[in-house]
Amino acid sequence: MTAPAAEPTVFERIAAREIPAQIVAETDRVIAFRDIAPQAPVHVVVTPKQGGYRDVVELASGDPALLAELVDVARGVADELAGGEFRLVFNTGAAAGQTVFHVHAHVLGGRLEEGSLAG
Ligand code: 5GP
Repeated sequence: MTAPAAEPTVFERIAAREIPAQIVAETDRVIAFRDIAPQAPVHVVVTPKQGGYRDVVELASGDPALLAELVDVARGVADELAGGEFRLVFNTGAAAGQTVFHVHAHVLGGRLEEGSLAG
């Protein structure tokens, strides 16, 4: 685990209910909410409630059980909102489109729009 960021990330602030979001699922350690700028009919961000891991590579080596829990929450969201079939996208690094450096998965369901992050 890396050192906690000086400032909480936007996703920690959503988990703390400091920033409003359309929350669709949560467990003790993971939260899922609709992306503010959806790029598919179903576009949900699934992320740990606490910061500390900047991307999926760090999470996989630092806490694989938490990564598995995140994927399980993603599956549940997709079952409920997207008929169980979905893309799971982890942008990893700024050059790959990552803008929030708090590990998160994008659950994308339905037809993707032209030029979307997973297209
Ligand atoms: P990234 O580009 O890092 O892979 O994904 C970050 C995602 O978080 C983007 O798709 C962006 O639209 C979403 N996002 C950023 N800020 C907020 C916010 O305040 N609320 C919600 N619901 N989504 C956000």
